[in-house]
Amino acid sequence: MRKDGNKVAIVTGASRGIGAAIARRLAADGFTVVVNYAGKAAEAEALVAEIETAGGTAIPAQADVSDPAAVARIFDAAQAAFGGIDVLVNNAGIMKLASLADSDDALFDSQVAINLKGSFNTLREAAKRLREGGRIINLSSSVVGLSPATYGVYAATKAGVEAMTHILTKELRGRNITVNAIAPGPTATALFLDGKPQAVIDTLTKAAPLERLGQPEDIANAVAFLAGPDGGWINGQILRANGGII
Ligand code: NDP
Repeated sequence: MRKDGNKVAIVTGASRGIGAAIARRLAADGFTVVVNYAGKAAEAEALVAEIETAGGTAIPAQADVSDPAAVARIFDAAQAAFGGIDVLVNNAGIMKLASLADSDDALFDSQVAINLKGSFNTLREAAKRLREGGRIINLSSSVVGLSPATYGVYAATKAGVEAMTHILTKELRGRNITVNAIAPGPTATALFLDGKPQAVIDTLTKAAPLERLGQPEDIANAVAFLAGPDGGWINGQILRANGGII
């Protein structure tokens, strides 16, 4: 049974990783899903086809979230195709690690552009356009609390996302729209795994008391709770979904 029939969700960065798991789960829960991606059109289109084959409704929507005009076009496309937008999942993100001493301008600028400005771009549109009863779920990271060396710029962008989460909650007073963030710990996607020595992966796999890496579906489960009927009283919270690493 579809428990959220007729609701429309935009998931940014949904061509793979956590975003793809979120899109798949929200579609299974009955949301119509806009599958945003930056470059990987084939992956996004394959996911849309998979959702449609399973009986769901989805469309792909290319946009670099750091481009405000491109973000506005996703919202325009969703409104034109489906009549409105109920849920924004702000998932698109990149991670580049270096000590602050070794962080060059490109490392700083790219993460600020995609993680912080990209989230701002989508939050601004969502604040203007989400229907009454809507839900906004931002992706932060548990490194905001863990503060590990080399994560300085990345964690700073996510701390900014958490700040906007709290503030937008207040700005949307009276519209019955919740704004929350999920802060995953190490999760088995390209963002986490690529470029890490196996020994580091092994250490981080055992770091949480539950002694495994998060899977994209673990994060999608938490997003589905916040987006669905059971999450309606949760507002302005940062939910760390990380197996207890912090
Ligand atoms: P992946 O690298 O696996 O996937 C990233 C996704 O974001 C892809 O779909 C990619 O699209 C998209 N994307 C990247 N840049 C842009 C852009 N400029 N505009 C639109 N889309 C873009 O990452 P994860 O799934 O691991 O991460 C998802 C979120 O979860 C991120 O915000 C990340 O910071 C956060 N997170 C992840 C953790 C982890 O351990 N994996 C831990 C804590 C937080 P395309 O492929 O088309 O380029």
